[in-house]
Amino acid sequence: MPSNYLTIGIIVDESETREFNTLLQKIIRHLQKQLKKNFPQFKWVFSFLKRKDFPTSIPLDPLELLEFGASLKLEYNLDFALVFTSLPLKSRFNQIVNAVPSNMLETAVISMASIIEEDTNKQVHGLLALCKHVLGHLWGLEHNSNSVMQPHHIWTKAHKLSWNKEEKKHILSYLKDIADPRLEETSKGLKLSTFLFYLHVLKREGISILRDILLFRSWLMMLRLGKFTVATAVSIIFLFLSAEAWEMGAAICPFWLNIGIGIILLAATLSLYFGQNLHKVAKSERIKEQAVRSKLVLFGTLFMGITIFWLNLFLISTTIIYLLPQKILIGWAGIKNNLPIFHFGKIMATFGILASALGGNLEEAQDIKAVLFYTEET
Ligand SMILES: [Zn+2]
Repeated sequence: MPSNYLTIGIIVDESETREFNTLLQKIIRHLQKQLKKNFPQFKWVFSFLKRKDFPTSIPLDPLELLEFGASLKLEYNLDFALVFTSLPLKSRFNQIVNAVPSNMLETAVISMASIIEEDTNKQVHGLLALCKHVLGHLWGLEHNSNSVMQPHHIWTKAHKLSWNKEEKKHILSYLKDIADPRLEETSKGLKLSTFLFYLHVLKREGISILRDILLFRSWLMMLRLGKFTVATAVSIIFLFLSAEAWEMGAAICPFWLNIGIGIILLAATLSLYFGQNLHKVAKSERIKEQAVRSKLVLFGTLFMGITIFWLNLFLISTTIIYLLPQKILIGWAGIKNNLPIFHFGKIMATFGILASALGGNLEEAQDIKAVLFYTEET
């Protein structure tokens, strides 16, 4: 495709009613018109995919639909995929879920269930606002009370429909990157080995990948994983109470400790990445830039999440060590001088990460995926 084309796939179940399809087509027409007006730099192409193999578990799991949409996005070389359904969605973190965007997978799921009852004009307005809110997230926007990026539980006619000036500027620069030809479409990309392909994607998109990783609020990741956090807390409490841990800590040289921390953070990330089959996400027959990008964002987010988790554990451990009676700890550690508080803080945090990596693999695979893939439930 020429470099200014942007294609959005609209994925629906083949068995949806005629009313549903008529309403959806009306919304997409409005959406296309507004996108053309807001971003005339691009040619907006919408392609409808009516699928027989649409997931049908009830209530519909947005995670399953996101993975379904993301695989079709790769198969049909779409830039973004929107999966629409007339059925309600299963919620994981919030009470009401109308839609789930995934910035990482460049795919979103939108349910029309809560809006389907009202009269047509109101429906179109509410759904259009919801679609634009979700697209805004796919294109890297955060919440904002002065535009369509304001979050709502119920989407109605009363809501703002447009992005503000700064948001449009941000979207434009985001979309310019996307509209460039994909690496596998260039003559150079065809000749690259897998390793070099990854390196080239990093070189071309390193900054935008980093932006996505940071945008993903990795620090929230650990908070949502209950077993992960519990395993860590328990192991750290036991560590604090055992003299052996202090003795061993005193014997570890600070230089090797720093190297060990780096290795353990990487190992914990790899253990979760492969333990939870995250490497199978965005799988395609041929190596594709989008798939490689999703994998890099996924791995980076996981690594960032674990590193931030380590930092939190380090701060907590250091504070507890500072508050405990130094005399006893010095006795346990078997040292003569002052207690190196930061050194022991690092050791406790690192043991905690080791335990949490094991705990993380006990966590339901679906929950970890949801935490990683969902930008939000809205
Ligand atoms: Zn939102």
